[in-house]
Amino acid sequence: MRAQPNGSHFVNGAYLDDPAGEVIEVLYPATGEVIARLHAATPAVLDAAIASAEAAQRLWAAETPAARGRVLRRAAEIMRVRNRDLSVLETLDTGKPLQETLVADAASGADCLEYFGGIIAGDTGDFIPLGENFVYTRREPLGICAGIGAWNYPIQIASWKSAPALACGNAMVFKPSETTPLSALKLAEIYIEAGAPPGLFNVVQGMGAVGAALATDPRIAKVSLTGSVPTGRKVYAAAAAGMKHVTMELGGKSPLIVFDDADLENAVSAAINGNFYSSGQVCSNGTRVFVQEAIHDVFLARLGERLSGVVVGDPLDESVNYGPQVSARQCEIVMGYIKAAVAEGARLVAGGTRIDRAGYWIAPTVFADVTDAMTIAREEIFGPVMSVLRFAQEDEIVARANATEFGLSAGVFTRDLARAHRVVARLQAGTCWINTYNLTPVEAPFGGVKASGLGRENSRHALDHYSQIKSVYVATGDVVAPY
Ligand code: NAD
Repeated sequence: MRAQPNGSHFVNGAYLDDPAGEVIEVLYPATGEVIARLHAATPAVLDAAIASAEAAQRLWAAETPAARGRVLRRAAEIMRVRNRDLSVLETLDTGKPLQETLVADAASGADCLEYFGGIIAGDTGDFIPLGENFVYTRREPLGICAGIGAWNYPIQIASWKSAPALACGNAMVFKPSETTPLSALKLAEIYIEAGAPPGLFNVVQGMGAVGAALATDPRIAKVSLTGSVPTGRKVYAAAAAGMKHVTMELGGKSPLIVFDDADLENAVSAAINGNFYSSGQVCSNGTRVFVQEAIHDVFLARLGERLSGVVVGDPLDESVNYGPQVSARQCEIVMGYIKAAVAEGARLVAGGTRIDRAGYWIAPTVFADVTDAMTIAREEIFGPVMSVLRFAQEDEIVARANATEFGLSAGVFTRDLARAHRVVARLQAGTCWINTYNLTPVEAPFGGVKASGLGRENSRHALDHYSQIKSVYVATGDVVAPY
């Protein structure tokens, strides 16, 4: 098998397996070929992971922030050196074109490790003078954090969660998606090589039940999930019962609003990137493309022309720019949405069919004449299905863009910058873009509002979600008491 690791799990600094765990078959989505066979974590594996994390966390939290940062920065360097191998593995696991994984996955993970490795030593506490007394604050780790990942950006998600967690002095037990379990194991190897104590970052495999076991374990202080809204509701409820901290990076149905004064070519590029990159499997995608009436038809025409640039083929071939869906199940879900759209009266202008190859391929699909009430305009599809909707006025479009339970992202294209800032200020979304789409540099906070989630990843704000502040009052005089 092409990508069989030395064990299913990575615990206490080494690969570990327990054949008693349920079998997880890992497939190359571009062909359906089995590339690895793993086992889900048994209670014994979970116990070993949490126990080793407890021991490692005590040592790690006692290190200076500068020493912790050095390990993270060393790990970032190793990731960069191994970028090609990590990218090939990510392509095998997810089916995303190598052209994408080379620049967007381990590369973004390395940026994140470097960033948090760089800022943590400069993150000093507050000193609050109170006359002759004073208060100072200490940023303290939470303890053991659980990370639970989705399948679209596996090593990026593992990095975005572990880097701020480890920088703050926590340990992490990470459960990748059962669909894409491989690359997190490589990250675990890299942390050890960079000097992290064994047990600081453990990887355990499994389906939802293993995630649920982490979310309910009293030894886990925080759960950071990247996944769908329904899973988020379950994990948040489980965490609440244990009064655990949470970060919830969930789904979206984000609006991409194109005003009639926009640079048309850039707006079309953004709609393509924001719907078909990673074959549409991106949480922040701008899947509701609202185009102002005057340019609606020319926008659609140009979009149709640009879609002739799609190159389908083996995703390991770097000239290929479009990959399959991650699994047969995901393929069925997306095809179901396409059928529903046709049945509800949307006009199919591109794609709409499976691509005739082994594996799980669906052509980039565009629907026009979509209305706000249609299923494809309301529900997250997580596939290559773009809905184009018309609008007339600014107030109207703000109301329609916000009329969703989600609030992950939003984009506005216009040459009128006053209007851009005015509209963005009224949009209910955690991340907005003006005249671009889907850029998520580590320096900028990322996360959702409404049902799309809680907490922020990336940027210095992520530190607040992996630490707690202790306030220390220091008196220099006598204590006054009434008796
Ligand atoms: P999913 O919700 O099915 O699974 C996510 C993870 O949760 C998996 O590891 C799964 O095993 C685990 N899980 C499932 N049930 C659980 C339970 N009861 N308790 C604990 N863990 C459980 O999501 P998916 O299909 O893997 O990923 C796609 C979804 O993720 C989409 O909705 C997408 O928008 C979202 N996503 C969000 C972001 C973001 O940053 N906001 C990024 C990527 C993906």
